Amino acid sequence: MDTLHALMKGPLPSLFFCIGNPVVGNPTQYMMEEAFLDMDFPGQYITCEVESDQLQTALEGLKALHVAGGNVTAPFKQQVFPYLDSFTESARLSNAVNCITLQSDGTYQGDNTDGKGFLQSLKEQVSNLRERRVVLFGSGGAASAIVVELVLAEVKEVVLVNRTREKAEALAERLQGVTNTKISTQAWEGTYQIEEDGLVVVQATSVGLFDENSCIDVAFSQGLRDVIACDVVFNPTDTAFLKRARQAGAATLDGLGMLVNQGVLGIENWTGRDADAEVMRSALAEAFSL
Ligand code: NDP
Repeated sequence: MDTLHALMKGPLPSLFFCIGNPVVGNPTQYMMEEAFLDMDFPGQYITCEVESDQLQTALEGLKALHVAGGNVTAPFKQQVFPYLDSFTESARLSNAVNCITLQSDGTYQGDNTDGKGFLQSLKEQVSNLRERRVVLFGSGGAASAIVVELVLAEVKEVVLVNRTREKAEALAERLQGVTNTKISTQAWEGTYQIEEDGLVVVQATSVGLFDENSCIDVAFSQGLRDVIACDVVFNPTDTAFLKRARQAGAATLDGLGMLVNQGVLGIENWTGRDADAEVMRSALAEAFSL
C-alpha cells in the first residue's frame, strides 16, 4: 500500500518498535521490514536506544501515540513489567517480556515469544515431545523462556544444568507443579557427558556467541541414537556445540530458527497475519554477513 493512499484514505500505516540499550547490531528492524514488504503490509519499524531511567517515559509515550507494538531486548526484558498493563502466561512464567502488543482498549500486553519460537522449531523435528527428557544448559533469560514452553508443552522431564547452580534451582522451583513435567537440576562439575539415546539437549548459555571456536564443557558419546542438540546462539549459525553434536551422530537445530520464529509470532500478535519465515531468515542471514 502506498503512503499517499494511506494518508488520504487510511488506514494509517502501523508503527512498531524495538527498545533496548545498546541496539546497534540488532537486525530485527531489517527482518521485520523485509517481512512487511513481502506481506504487502503497511508496517513501519523503528529501532530505539532508551536510557534505563527513561524506560517508563518511553513506554508511556509509545502508548500515548498508539504505537501498535514492538520488541523489547536487553537489558529491559524484566524492567518493562511495571509499565505494561497485562501479560500472557509465557511472559508471567518466564518473568521476561520480549514482545508488546497494543490491545483494542489502548493498553499494552507483554508476551514472551522467545521460548515459543524455540518450541516451534523443535516441534518441526520432534513429534513425541511428551515422551522426551531434555537436558538444558543455562538459566538466564533465553533458558527461562525455553523451559517455560517445554513445561507448558508437558515434556516428560527437564534437567537444568547451569554454571551457577542456585539460578537453575530457583528456576526449577518457580516452575515446579505448573504441569506434570518433572523438573530437576544437576551440578556441572567438569565435562558433562551426553550419553543417553533419545535425549533433547539444549545449549541455552551465551557461550559461542560471535565465537565459532567456543563451546560449553560437554562431550557427546559416539553413536548416539535419536538425540537432538539445539543451540540458542544464532551468530555463528553453525556453532562449535552443534558441530560436536553432529560428529557424534546427533541431529541439530540452530538458533536462527528460534530467532525467526519469535519474529513470525510477533507479527502474528500485532497483525493477526502470517509472515514468511524464509523471507525473514534470508534477511537475518544477509544482516549477519555484514
Ligand atoms: P543471560 O545473560 O540471561 O544468561 C547467560 C547464561 O549463560 C547464564 O546461564 C550463564 O551462567 C551462562 N554462561 C555465560 N558464560 C558461561 C560460561 N563461560 N560457561 C557456562 N555458562 C555460561 O543471557 P540470555 O539468556 O539472554 O542469552 C543467552 C544466549 O541466547 C545469547 O547468546 C543470546 O544471544 C541467545 N538468544 C537467542 C535467541 C534466539 O532467538 N535464538 C533469543 C534470546 C537470546 P551463569 O548463570 O552461571 O552466569
